[in-house]
Amino acid sequence: MFTASKILALLASLLVMALLILIIVTPRGEADTRSISNPSTNKVEFRLLHEAVSGHQIIDGQHQKEVLRVVNTIPEALQPALKGTEFVNGCHPWTTKELGSCAYGTYDPHGWDSDDTHGHEWANTIWISSQAVRTGKVPDVVLHEVGHAVVHNLFDDCYFPQQAEVSVKELLLQSFTHGGADPAELLADAFVVAFSIHSDDLHTHYFEDFNFEASREVILKLRAAVWLCSK
Ligand SMILES: [Zn+2]
Repeated sequence: MFTASKILALLASLLVMALLILIIVTPRGEADTRSISNPSTNKVEFRLLHEAVSGHQIIDGQHQKEVLRVVNTIPEALQPALKGTEFVNGCHPWTTKELGSCAYGTYDPHGWDSDDTHGHEWANTIWISSQAVRTGKVPDVVLHEVGHAVVHNLFDDCYFPQQAEVSVKELLLQSFTHGGADPAELLADAFVVAFSIHSDDLHTHYFEDFNFEASREVILKLRAAVWLCSK
């Protein structure tokens, strides 16, 4: 039978266990925060980028801090695709030339310029426009562009165990074949659905334009692919 002192001793040991759990968990939380800031871009060389694209009025930079704040909220699961990726607040030179206006976001693995040359110093960048910041949709715009980076960096040479003859990228693109839409853009929008951490209406431009809805099964497949291919 329990005596009062035994119950007290039990309560005390439970308290010690709870404290130990807190001590073990807290440093991990801090480590996560630090690793989340890894892909951030305090290193962006604005002067160099400015010179590189001067004449195009491309760099903006007035919302660079806000862009980096959002970058620091990118889920950890997606970060393996962002090694060395720089985030720039501005209008990407090639996309701006192609569209005739400034896109909300651009992922550029190769450093494309408006004269159709590539290999420029802004290779491996994600560009987020000031207009996107002003709409308040930046978290979703960033996730869409990070989605392109994940597909490019992780899915191309990755295979589901049961389907070793077709890459994860090809298999997923097949799931996003829909009307006249570019499957790569629908797939990038699916990252917003799968990884968004806010509860506002999602900004999924291509889903809305092409009246597309990703099934729960496809979103689960996408999450599984990220898990598998980032190992
Ligand atoms: Zn896109």
